[in-house]
Amino acid sequence: MSELRKGNKELIKDINRYTVLNLIREKGAITRTEIAKRCDFGMSTLTYILEDLQASGLISEGGEIGSTGGRRAKVLTFNRDFAYIASVKIEEERILLALTDLDATVIIDEVIGFPEHGMPEKVAEAIMAQIHVLLKKKKLEQKRLMGIGIAVSGLVNRKEGVVIRSTMLGWENVELANMFATNFPNIPVLVDKNINCYAQAELFLGEGRNISNFVCISVGAGLGLSTVINRHIYYGSHGGAGEFGHTTFQVNGYPCHCGQDGCLEMYASEFYFHNKKQELLEKKVETTITDFHFENVAKAAENGDEVALKLIQTMGENLGYGIRNLINTFNPEKVIIAGEGLHHADLFIENIKEIANKNFFSEVAIETQITETALGDLAWLQGAALLVINQIFQVPIYESNQTLLK
Ligand SMILES: [Zn+2]
Repeated sequence: MSELRKGNKELIKDINRYTVLNLIREKGAITRTEIAKRCDFGMSTLTYILEDLQASGLISEGGEIGSTGGRRAKVLTFNRDFAYIASVKIEEERILLALTDLDATVIIDEVIGFPEHGMPEKVAEAIMAQIHVLLKKKKLEQKRLMGIGIAVSGLVNRKEGVVIRSTMLGWENVELANMFATNFPNIPVLVDKNINCYAQAELFLGEGRNISNFVCISVGAGLGLSTVINRHIYYGSHGGAGEFGHTTFQVNGYPCHCGQDGCLEMYASEFYFHNKKQELLEKKVETTITDFHFENVAKAAENGDEVALKLIQTMGENLGYGIRNLINTFNPEKVIIAGEGLHHADLFIENIKEIANKNFFSEVAIETQITETALGDLAWLQGAALLVINQIFQVPIYESNQTLLK
């Protein structure tokens, strides 16, 4: 357990400073009068806080907007390039990296190959070296790097930055965050499951700006889920919530890599195509599909291969049943679909909707919107950066908190 700071003058000062700073961040541009009204501070307290924030370089005063009295009022703005975040997504065959500003806007991004054998130490070394390269390319000093956010597949202990188990990477109990201490001491290195990072991006940059309860699903090589309840990602007791792909779809169905059988992931992701392969070969069905990867099946379907089209549509229907279960369990406002499979969503999105739209709530005319994500592929990296950003802008109420304001 982290120890709470004592409720003294210093803590109150920090709470006030962070309240003002976060209000300016959230609003983008705001006048002193508006801040005073919202925060209920006296003008002298506010002046002191604003001077302090300006001196640290986090905010600037300048520019004018018309105020209600007809006078022009100066506005305070947040300096989002005050510092930078490095964000990383570790995939099976490649690593995506970016530097973002404090609004999670990507300023440079790059893709590197996965180091041979995928040893965790080698992966961490490759990432560290590449972060130095990116800093150099943008001519940024290391001291302006405020943290590193990492998206990875598998079960993660977020508090310790440990990947407990990733079947895709073949990792077990990998102390990933600790591996960065040699090159990047004294900055937070935060690790989370990749679909949770995507949900962070939706929460702060996408759908979450308007709604509080939604689910994010990634479909492609596998099947991922992140559930947002009252604007918070639901993690479960061990951080493992969201193993939607390993809920049972078919009793005594296809064996799954998780050790169970009949898992939804075996029917509603690329695995379904691999599972059907043998059957199609035995029946000597004519098809242009070659390797049964998602991209390959989708391309064949787009080129008029009826077998490929049927496969991908059935996969969509299977996912539709899974989504129907989610809707009935969580009653979300929206179901947001993301992932590499979405590049070919036109082939199967209607099949998903046809099944999932017939749910418990539709019977009483309560509609759950099923939608494709409006965020681009960089959202994974933006979400990983947000892990750090959300932490450093929190009021440091614990002794161990990393603080942005000194
Ligand atoms: Zn499974």
